[in-house]
Amino acid sequence: MSQEFPCIDLPLRDRLAATDRPLLSYEFFPPKSEAGMLALQEAVEGLVHTHPDFVTVTYGAGGSTRNLTFEIAALLRRFRYGPVMPHLTCVGSSRAELDTIADRIWEEGFRNIMTLRGDPPKGETEFIPPADGLACARDLVRLLKARHPEFCLGVAGYPEGHPEAASAQSELDYLKSKIDEGADFITTQLFLENDAYYRFVERCQTAGITVPILPGLMPALSLGQIRRITTMCGATLPPELVKRLEHAGDHPDRAMSAGILWCTEQIVDLLQQGVPGIHLYILNQIRPAMSYQLAQTVLEMTR
Ligand SMILES: Cc1cc2nc3c(=O)[nH]c(=O)nc-3n(C[C@H](O)[C@H](O)[C@H](O)COP(=O)(O)OP(=O)(O)OC[C@H]3O[C@@H](n4cnc5c(N)ncnc54)[C@H](O)[C@@H]3O)c2cc1C
Repeated sequence: MSQEFPCIDLPLRDRLAATDRPLLSYEFFPPKSEAGMLALQEAVEGLVHTHPDFVTVTYGAGGSTRNLTFEIAALLRRFRYGPVMPHLTCVGSSRAELDTIADRIWEEGFRNIMTLRGDPPKGETEFIPPADGLACARDLVRLLKARHPEFCLGVAGYPEGHPEAASAQSELDYLKSKIDEGADFITTQLFLENDAYYRFVERCQTAGITVPILPGLMPALSLGQIRRITTMCGATLPPELVKRLEHAGDHPDRAMSAGILWCTEQIVDLLQQGVPGIHLYILNQIRPAMSYQLAQTVLEMTR
């Protein structure tokens, strides 16, 4: 990765510990086509003025877009986006390779990593660790902390349960073990009903998990898209949102507006409840980020 603007990010843990205002973060993903790359660049340019506190870049399934993750992270840096947090998964790498990647991330000046196991390859239901690799995100947290103790690490949490969870309690115990290994915060899987998040936070607190839990939100772009995603990740698709998206019919703009409005309502409520931040899965587009700006406007008007 070429580094045109050498810099060393601040670990986010201090910023997360400060409670003066909630953080805003966006998630980008490495596109697979040239058109996708142009759309991403447009979004990156168009969103600078919204001043997110940090941004993250996903790690391609199967590690396929691994280098692209770092290229996009470098691109985001050029736009002075603040701390850029690459995601890293256990997929496709041995321990030795993960050590090398960890060193590279450190040397490039990144200090924050979203630490994940990753999904099984397409068509497979079970995650099989790579040869001499790691089986779960907890082990990756351990590896990264052993390599560079100063890394600030985020891990995934699942308000409605991970599809592979044996039970709600075993999942919670396991989540706590990721924190006990040194993870600094949790970002949740997307949810479309805030009660799922509030219940999850309560259960985490009861289990002794005290790190910040950032709600992850995704504005629906269309009924088909949100159906696909919720089916994949096991999140509940509220009938009221389905009704609104059906009402938008075949108009992509109207459907996206309905999705953004729903997400805006979620954000207003979450901010009123004092969440530590909002993480937006913006799908490399500008409009989904509007849900946060709209929520701010609503809150200012009602203050
Ligand atoms: C915020 C966020 C960002 C993501 N970014 C990416 C990305 O960039 N690239 C990508 O490929 N995927 C990404 N994903 C998807 C993620 O890789 C999948 O959800 C994957 O199936 C699980 O990853 P994990 O890190 O949660 O795994 P883990 O935390 O290792 O485990 C997943 C689940 O399996 C069960 N489990 C695992 N080990 C144990 C154990 N020892 N004991 C009990 N239960 C256990 C638990 O139910 C646990 O919640 C992301 C998900 C989220 C929420």
